[in-house]
Formats: sequence, structure tokens, C-alpha cells
Amino acid sequence: MNALRVRSAVSPLRRPFLAQPVVLPLVDDVVATNRPEEPMHCLRPATITATAREFVTAFPGVTMYAVKCNPEPAVLRALRAGGVSHFDCASINEVTLVRQMFPDAAIHFMHPVKARGAIREAWARHGVRDFVVDSAEELAKLGQEIAATAIDGDLGVIVRLALPKGGARLDLSGKFGAASDDAATLLRDARPHAARLGVSFHVGSQCLDPLAWRRALAVAGQVIHAAGVPVEIVDVGGGFPVAYPDVEPPPLGAFLAEIESGFEALGLPAAQLWAEPGRALVAGGASVVVQVQRRRGDALYVNDGVYGSLADAGTLGFRYPARLIPSDDRRESAAKHGFSLFGPTCDSADAMHGPFILPADVTDGDWIEIGQLGAYGGCFRTAFNGFDRARIVEVRDLPLQHARPAEPVPMAA
Ligand SMILES: *Cc1c(COP(=O)(O)O)cnc(C)c1O
Repeated sequence: MNALRVRSAVSPLRRPFLAQPVVLPLVDDVVATNRPEEPMHCLRPATITATAREFVTAFPGVTMYAVKCNPEPAVLRALRAGGVSHFDCASINEVTLVRQMFPDAAIHFMHPVKARGAIREAWARHGVRDFVVDSAEELAKLGQEIAATAIDGDLGVIVRLALPKGGARLDLSGKFGAASDDAATLLRDARPHAARLGVSFHVGSQCLDPLAWRRALAVAGQVIHAAGVPVEIVDVGGGFPVAYPDVEPPPLGAFLAEIESGFEALGLPAAQLWAEPGRALVAGGASVVVQVQRRRGDALYVNDGVYGSLADAGTLGFRYPARLIPSDDRRESAAKHGFSLFGPTCDSADAMHGPFILPADVTDGDWIEIGQLGAYGGCFRTAFNGFDRARIVEVRDLPLQHARPAEPVPMAA
């Protein structure tokens, strides 16, 4: 007997899809009815669909969603309804999930270091045709694993470029990407095997500087020029920022303007632009309702934390919008106060400094809805210390904070 057990985090399809009521409930009503003692994820499908449609319409190329950001089926369905038909997957479980849900979706395997079995299964069983590489070893792996299953001449190879450290809140430059010289060699070596050849990069997540894309595109141009082979795809990655209580990013148009002009400067009129947004499409699309279990001065002990959906509030010190849902029918105090939160586990690192701005009279039993957690929230949950349960509900509320400022309204003539 094989004693190995495999536990999967991306396994929502083992749960049946529940038929949704035509009119979704409001968060306050769900809390009043259920008085949840476990964290409750409140998904806003209408917000996600509208945000996706806005990005897909504005981006001058192919928009693929980075599934890792939030793989909930309800989220994926809302994105699909917003016009997203391409998905950036990084694991075979993500590939399997997207393929099960959307038989006609285009799936791209965008992790530069893949298991051999994942490459074979993605290619042969799920029809994945585009793969990212950032090393000669990974390119050789593609050749070996895909050739073994009868290559049909439709392989797309995207070479991930390393970028210098930039201004993003989450720098990704150290882990993935080929240096410029190696990238040019990779493009040349891949060309004879690839029906589509491309370059990609990631400027880092929550990147507030539109010029980061301009600079990255210039690096891409140098590499393509040095390679001296035709390239069909220029993939500008993810990293598009959203608003948080202390951050107000430039409008999406400012980023797209730099991307368009940077792309034009490459002089590749036949090439296609791709983007891989994650955070920008879904951050505003979910909140988490937590319950206060104890108040100690300015600190609130709540039932979710850094081992749950508040990882970035702890480790990275991200701030999130919050609002109180009182547990009784008192009128909440008008005075506002900054609170820090402690998560439920026994680890002292399970703390979120915030501050979370709430009415001053928060007390145990109250709920707090924390917004902008649609991206990198629920997907980070662990089972540490036994706190592995959370509820999920779809609601019709607007986001607690707009994920992105509205585009400037042109003055009437
Ligand atoms: C995580 C990731 C993304 C999405 O990044 P965001 O900052 O959420 O937009 C896109 N592409 C790749 C390769 C990633 O790893």
C-alpha cells in the first residue's frame, strides 16, 4: 500500500455548485441571520464581473487572470462573465480546476519551474499549449515531456525575463526570470520548436509606478533585438495596483498608456500584447467578516489572522478598510479609533497592526467586515492550530473601498 496522502488546497470542485438565489443577500442580513463564529468570506460577483469587463475592454491585447490570486469557483465564474477567457495557471491543480469549469478557456502555464508530470498532463489532458521557461533546463524539459506525447506543432514558449528590483510593494525580481543574455539565447534556442514565441516579465505585485512597465518593455526590446528572431507575444505580466486605506494608485489608464507607448517603441506591429492581472481584477471582490472574541485596550482578538485570510495584513503590514457590524441593536459610537488585531492562533506573530479604523465602542461579540481581501486573502488559509474553517457567501454589497479610482471624467465641451 502506498501510504502517501495528497492534500489539495485548490479543490473547490469537490463541493457541488450551489444554485444561487437570483437576488444575492446583503452582508448585514447574512450576519444577523447566521451570527457566524467562523470567518466568513463575502464574495461580490457583480463587482468582479464589472472590474474584469473594465480591464478586458481597456487592455489592448489578451487579458489572462492569474488564478493563484483567488481560485474560488464563484470568482472564476464572475471573471468569465466579465469577458475573461484566458487563465494564467501555475500548478496542475489550477489547470484542472479551470479546465473543469470552462472547457473552452485558454489556459497558459506560466510557472517557470514545473514538475515533469504537470507538463505532460497539462499538454495531453487539458490542452494547454503555452508554457513559460526561464532556463535552458526548463526548455529541455518541455522538449522531452511534450515530444513524448506526440507534439502537434502548436507549442507556445514564453521566456520570462528577470527585471532589476523595482518599486513594487512585493518584489519578485530575485526568484524568477532569465538575465538578458541568457534570455536572448533561450529565445533563439526555442524558436525552432515554437509555433508562438514570446517574452514575459512581472514588475512585482501592487506596483504603483506606471513607468515600471515602460522600463521593463525596454528590457524586453533589448533582449528581442539581441536574439534576432521574430517574437509573437509580449506579456507584461501582473502587478497592477489597487487602492487600500493608505494607498491611492494612479488610474488604470496611466498604466495602459505606458504599456502602449512602450510596446509601440519595440516596433513589433505583428506581436500580441498579453497581461496577467490578479490583484487588480479581484481585490475589491471579497471581504471577510471576523468576530471579536476579546477586547484589550486598542487590541482586538478576532477569529481570523495571518494563518487565515489576513496574511498580508500581518507579514506585509498591509492596511485594509474595515467597518463594524454590532452584535446588538445599540447605535455604534460616532468616535473612530485605530485598532490592531490579534489572530486566533497561539503564535505571537499572528498579529495585524493595521491600524483598522473602527467606532471606538467595539466590544466582544461584534463583527468586523474587512474589505479589499478578494486578492491574496482566502487563498492563504491554512489549518494551523485547527483554525481551518471559514464560510463563503455571495453577496450584493458594493466593495468597502473602490479598488481603483474612477477614470477622470472628461469635461463637457
Ligand atoms: C502572481 C502572478 C501574477 C499576478 O500578479 P498580481 O500582482 O496579483 O497582478 C501574474 N503573473 C505571474 C507569473 C504571477 O506569478
